[in-house]
Amino acid sequence: MRRCTSSWAGRLERVVNHPASEPRLASDDPLALSGVHGLADLDPRTFRAAAHRVADLMADYLESVEDYPVFPAIEPGSIRPLFPATPPEGPTAIAEILADYEALIPPNATHWQHPGFLAYFGTTASGPGILGEMLTAALGQNPMLWRTSPIGTELEGVVVDWLRQGLGLPSAFDGLLTDSASTSTMIALAAAREAAGLDAAAEGLAGRPDLAGGVRVYASAEAHSSIEKACMTLGLGRASLGKIPVNSRFELEPTALAAAISADRSAGRVPLAIVATIGTTSSTSIDPVAEIAEIAGREGLWLHVDAAYAGAVALLPARRAPFSGWELADSIVVNPHKWLFTPLDASLLLTRRMELLRAAFSLQPEYLRTLDRQAPVRDYSEYQPQLGRRFRALKLWILLRTFGLEGLRARIDHHLALAAGFAEWVDADPDWERLAPVPFSTVCFRFRPAARARRPADPAVDSSLDQLNAAIMAGVNRSGEVFLSHTRLAGRFTIRLAVGNLRTEERHVARAWALLRSEAARLGAA
Ligand code: PLP
Repeated sequence: MRRCTSSWAGRLERVVNHPASEPRLASDDPLALSGVHGLADLDPRTFRAAAHRVADLMADYLESVEDYPVFPAIEPGSIRPLFPATPPEGPTAIAEILADYEALIPPNATHWQHPGFLAYFGTTASGPGILGEMLTAALGQNPMLWRTSPIGTELEGVVVDWLRQGLGLPSAFDGLLTDSASTSTMIALAAAREAAGLDAAAEGLAGRPDLAGGVRVYASAEAHSSIEKACMTLGLGRASLGKIPVNSRFELEPTALAAAISADRSAGRVPLAIVATIGTTSSTSIDPVAEIAEIAGREGLWLHVDAAYAGAVALLPARRAPFSGWELADSIVVNPHKWLFTPLDASLLLTRRMELLRAAFSLQPEYLRTLDRQAPVRDYSEYQPQLGRRFRALKLWILLRTFGLEGLRARIDHHLALAAGFAEWVDADPDWERLAPVPFSTVCFRFRPAARARRPADPAVDSSLDQLNAAIMAGVNRSGEVFLSHTRLAGRFTIRLAVGNLRTEERHVARAWALLRSEAARLGAA
């Protein structure tokens, strides 16, 4: 495993104290020349040499990522002092910058690319995705209008539709690519406001007698915080979010939802939308979408489905049962930057009602009008809050072609099997317990020695188990070999193991299990 070496420490000393004062290297290597002078960009020869060197750095990193501790042994605040406090006044040679990159950047990163990264939900920047990002950067497209990037605009339409077909959704769904599920959900809820006839885009929500009782959005108590944040951002306020109770499997209770809507209507509140989650963040539970869709239809409410993590599983026709009813939604979010091996950022927002996204966000100042249009075109900036946009379709186009749907399915299937295997190990050990079902690739569990389990339920025992499990997880993470995260389920500290990294193999999951058991034995015995 890589640790701080003395040459690394020497380089740090130079970076901190002498940022640009070293004598320049005399060489015909363009990278060793002293930065960019004059008014131009990097000259093509230097750029080419630098790009080749960067490609080597990237390939070396991906080849050896397992040599790093997944999370470095550093403390908050330890990195900033490694950088000069003042900006560089003059140009620095690329060779020097890349050497500093090697010394300072990867050693201080959390290695999401590491196969032992089993925390949160994985995000892998796959090879094809990285190639796409490189080309995207060089091309410098801004598909805010068709005219500002015809290829960016039309290729986005192509990959959105490819993904829709892959996920098995009907052709009534159109959509766009955004930066995150948080943004996608916010856009969907803004459209829901328009669908409810509030005309919030024109009139706002403040001081309206028709909304004096407040508005309501519903989601389960286990839904992601991005829904609450969307309510905050859209001026609905956190108070507008009705958090519906869940059952013992952490799934939204439809009867409680129907009752909440009816109580809110009686109290003069205006219900707008329901958010159902397929794959909640803590336990990956699945809300009963078909039943919720029925309620949304009856009540005339917008239904948004948050499948940011688990949506990728719908690529597998044999595994579509949990998605039943999502085809009835008004909008759906699936994040390719979670389980489809796409480098951050890429979120897919699908909707049957593009015209309502447009009603929520379209504004055409004169300087954005296209005067010479022959045919109607799509200007994606009319469907979202930002004007400038990234050309995210390119990396998805490369990725989808490189792996093919078949390749993506095989990888997701493999992850589902790894998680199922880990869950079996937990279930077979009397000193450990699983705290939630495992419908996808995330296992929620804790250490609970059999001797303690036999005692009657006692809050003090649970609190000491919380501390013990937190210590076990911290000990495992200190190993640097794997990285786990936690949540709280039914009030209990819960360790999560989420498989989603492209490089994770059975040996990594087995190593996590061995480390957990040895740390539990060490701490449980103490
Ligand atoms: N929805 C769910 C179910 C999630 O698990 C997450 C993140 O983990 C999000 C939304 C937010 O995703 P993003 O980081 O793309 O905003």
